[in-house]
Amino acid sequence: MAIMTERAVFLDKDGTLIEDVPYNVDPALMRFLPGTAEGLRALHAAGFRLIVISNQSGVARGYFPEAALTAVEARLRAMFAAIGVALAGFYYCPHHPDGTVPEYAVSCVCRKPFPGLIVRAARAHGIDRAQSWFIGDILHDIEAGHRAGCQTILIANGNETVWELSPARTPDALAADIAEAARVITSSRQSAVSEYGAFRLLTADCRLSRGSVTHD
Ligand SMILES: [Mg+2]
Ligand SMILES: [Zn+2]
Repeated sequence: MAIMTERAVFLDKDGTLIEDVPYNVDPALMRFLPGTAEGLRALHAAGFRLIVISNQSGVARGYFPEAALTAVEARLRAMFAAIGVALAGFYYCPHHPDGTVPEYAVSCVCRKPFPGLIVRAARAHGIDRAQSWFIGDILHDIEAGHRAGCQTILIANGNETVWELSPARTPDALAADIAEAARVITSSRQSAVSEYGAFRLLTADCRLSRGSVTHD
């Protein structure tokens, strides 16, 4: 059995790392959000593997073929390389139970909030999930991270609009962007993070932040 000693930060893609362009697979429209480059550099310098975990139900919905995601991954790798960090992995779920393409219109364990992709990625990269983090912009990301045994940070940018909270969907901390999330991860002991997260959840009135529709 492989020894799981690496630490990772698992990252949602759309609305977390890059601008949320619904169902986009055009590499030319992929742009880092403010704070992403700074945050990724800090996490890379701290020794974390950087792995993207993305729901891509546009495949199941028939909006684009699965092969279109090859160019998306290539563009992501180039964007990471351009800021001096490595993209260790890009994992996506092409499924959706209500999809129109029969082979992808299934219930699966890899679509967030299920943790299948995180578990698969961790196994492939020798990652200790308990020493790792998930950063996302909606509570499905948080639930997937927690189900995989990771600590979690919600980018509170207003992309979550439903706020179905439960213990598994309560992030350990909130952050404005990846740069702030990286500061939380690199500066905090585990227990301190939980207290910090609870405090931030009480004080940050993010439910009133201007919402936008979340697409995946
Ligand atoms: Mg997202
Ligand atoms: Zn899936």
